[in-house]
Amino acid sequence: MAEVTKVTIDQDECISCEACIAECEAVLEMVDDKATVKADAQDPAVLKQHSDEIIAAAEVCPCDAIQVETA
Ligand code: SF4
Repeated sequence: MAEVTKVTIDQDECISCEACIAECEAVLEMVDDKATVKADAQDPAVLKQHSDEIIAAAEVCPCDAIQVETA
């Protein structure tokens, strides 16, 4: 299983569809109508714990706005 080590969102690409939030509410949230990574989720243990959901969120994004790095 891939372990997520970093997740970033290109907010210029985000169209505010919230599809990623449905996949990964633990790590992602909407702020000012743009998907963002929760501040308290920028922790390696949290990212690792939610790896599957983060990857699913990146895959569901229609704009490829979510970049994921894995170990
Ligand atoms: S799925 Fe992509 S376009 Fe939709 S809210 Fe999330 S980052 Fe934005």
